[in-house]
Amino acid sequence: MCIRDRTYSLKIHTERNIKMSKGLLIVVSAPSGCGKGTILAQVLKNDNFYYSVSATTRFPREGEVDGVNYHFLTKEGFEKLIAEDGMLEHACYCGNYYGTPRKAVFDKLEEGKDVILEIEVQGAMKIKEKCPDAVFVFILPPSLGTLRHRLEKRGTETPEVIDKRVGEAAGEIEKAHNYDYIIVNDDLDDAVADFLAVVKAEKMTVKRSSETIDEILNK
Ligand code: 5GP
Repeated sequence: MCIRDRTYSLKIHTERNIKMSKGLLIVVSAPSGCGKGTILAQVLKNDNFYYSVSATTRFPREGEVDGVNYHFLTKEGFEKLIAEDGMLEHACYCGNYYGTPRKAVFDKLEEGKDVILEIEVQGAMKIKEKCPDAVFVFILPPSLGTLRHRLEKRGTETPEVIDKRVGEAAGEIEKAHNYDYIIVNDDLDDAVADFLAVVKAEKMTVKRSSETIDEILNK
């Protein structure tokens, strides 16, 4: 086996064995305007969570900071990262590239952090293939009307973009069937509590706790 092949097989090993890593890989999707950012901002007050900063080719919105909200890249820079196999997944959404830089995710999982990927559904389904032990959470608005209203109130998009995003949202919501958990964001505190409950319950599943069973048997 040449070194290149060995590197490849080690990588597959890492991705398929998320279950064995100390932290949880949590994939969160929601149509734009569902309040996912607000929910995650509350969740991330807990130091054990790590938010994976994505790369994108879209322009920064007012107030967004490079390296904090996203790594803002040119199309060429983004494609270079893909070619170097630096992305765990990537997708094209509303005409721009979005992707998850691979290294930070596995470094943080190894440290024992619960890593949150806030990504759209195409990317989430790629993670499902590569990392079947990740946890998939979909956040829903109470209705499509509420979603449109929230986007209009946010005021960061033109009416054309809002139409496009609401249209895409309907298609995305249908994909929620492929996720493990649904959280309806009607009330922020409830949604945050639901998210934390999902993480807590996941950590108690037998597939993630077999070591605990063995430890108790050997005490
Ligand atoms: P926005 O432009 O509103 O920040 O994000 C648009 C969509 O791209 C959202 O659904 C967001 O979750 C998704 N997104 C953000 N980062 C990534 C990523 O790294 N990979 C993928 N596949 N989607 C992402």
